[in-house]
Amino acid sequence: MTVSPSPGAPAVVSPIETDALIIGAGPVGLFQVFELGLQDIRAHVVDSLPHVGGQCAELYADKPIYDIPGVPVCTGRELVERLRQQIAPFGANFHLGQEVRSLERAADGRFDVATSTGTRFVARTVFVAGGVGSFQPKALRLPGIERFAGRQLFYRVADAAAFAGQHLVVAGGGDSALDWAIHFASTDQARPARVTLLHRRDEFRALPATLRRLAELREAGAVEVVIGQPTGFETDGERLARLVLMRPDGSSTTLALDTLLVFHGLSPKLGPIAEWGLELDHKLVTVNPATFETSTPGVFAVGDICHYPGKRKLILCGFHEATLAAFAAVPYVDPERRALLQYTTSSPQLHRLLGVETPSQD
Ligand SMILES: Cc1cc2nc3c(=O)[nH]c(=O)nc-3n(C[C@H](O)[C@H](O)[C@H](O)COP(=O)(O)OP(=O)(O)OC[C@H]3O[C@@H](n4cnc5c(N)ncnc54)[C@H](O)[C@@H]3O)c2cc1C
Repeated sequence: MTVSPSPGAPAVVSPIETDALIIGAGPVGLFQVFELGLQDIRAHVVDSLPHVGGQCAELYADKPIYDIPGVPVCTGRELVERLRQQIAPFGANFHLGQEVRSLERAADGRFDVATSTGTRFVARTVFVAGGVGSFQPKALRLPGIERFAGRQLFYRVADAAAFAGQHLVVAGGGDSALDWAIHFASTDQARPARVTLLHRRDEFRALPATLRRLAELREAGAVEVVIGQPTGFETDGERLARLVLMRPDGSSTTLALDTLLVFHGLSPKLGPIAEWGLELDHKLVTVNPATFETSTPGVFAVGDICHYPGKRKLILCGFHEATLAAFAAVPYVDPERRALLQYTTSSPQLHRLLGVETPSQD
C-alpha cells in the first residue's frame, strides 16, 4: 500500500491521472480497491482521516463484529487489517489526511477532483465511499475561542516542532490525546517546556501499553495531569493566556498555557459531497441498485453513503455494492472490454491479477 502525502505535507501540483478514484477508505472503499483490481482497474484512494478503516477504525476498533461472512468474529481493527492484506496485490495509492473538496466533469468527459491539501486528480471513474461523511475534529465548545485556531489552538499536529519550548496543554482522554502527550513528553527533538494533559476525569480510554506509559511519565513528572472541564478562557491582549476550568467538585480554577491541542474525538459531516451535483435523498446519494451508479454517469456511490430501496447500512451490503459497481465501471475505463464473471478459484486471469499461482489440473 502506497501512502502519500502526510497531513501538512506540501501540495502535489500536477494532476494525477487515474482510471478510478475512490473517495473514502472505510471498509467499503477498501473493498472497492479489491473489486476494481479483479477487473484490472487500478485505483487511487483519498480519505480525510490520517489512516484507513473509516468507522471500523475510528469508532469501534476494539469492538467485535460478528456478521462478516466467513469470519465468525473480528474487531474493527482486525477487519481493516484483513482488508489491507486482501487489497495489497492491487497496489492502490492512498492519499490520507485530505478531504476531497470538489468534483467536476472535465471537457474530455473525465472528472477533475481536488482535495483540501491541493492534490488534484483526473479520473475516468469516481467511487464515492464516503460513509456517514468526512470525519472532522470536534471543536472545543467555548464561544470565541476559535479565533485562536491555527495560532494557539490546534485540532491536529501539522508541525510538532512548532511547540518547542512552550507550555503545551493537550486536552482529551482517548488514544490521540494520550499518544500526543506521551510523544511530546518523551521526544528528544524540539520538546515543549511543559506538557499538561487536561481531561474531565482521572480515567483514560486507551490501549493498555499507552496507559502504562502515561503512568510512568506522570510519575516522573514529565506529564502533568489536570482534571477539569473548560468553561471559559482569559486573554493577555491578543494572546490566549489561560483556560478557566471547573473541577469535579464544582470549584473553579485556571490553567495557564501557550498552546492548546484538542482531541475531543471526531464527528462525521457529509460536507463537500453535497455540493457535487449528485442526486441526494436525505443527505444520501441516490444510486441505481443494479450498477450503483449515481445520477452522474461514471460516478458511483457505495457503502453507507448510498441510497436505494431496501438499503441497509451494513458492511456486507457495502461489499456487494462495491462488486457490482466495479463491473459497471469497466466500459468507462475500456469501452471495448466486456466485464465477464470469473471465479477467483479457477480463473488464470484473476490469479495473474492477484499474483497467485494457478493450481495445476493434475
Ligand atoms: C459502533 C458501530 C458498530 C458497528 N457494527 C457493525 C457491525 O457489527 N456489522 C456491520 O456490518 N456494520 C456495523 N457498523 C456499521 C459499519 O461500520 C458501516 O456500515 C461501515 O463502516 C460503512 O463503511 P463505508 O466504507 O461505507 O463508510 P465509513 O466506514 O463511514 O468510511 C467512510 C470514509 O470516507 C471518508 N470521507 C467521507 N467524505 C470524504 C471526503 N469528502 N474526502 C475524503 N474522505 C472522505 C471518511 O473520513 C471515512 O473514513 C457499525 C457502526 C458503528 C458506528
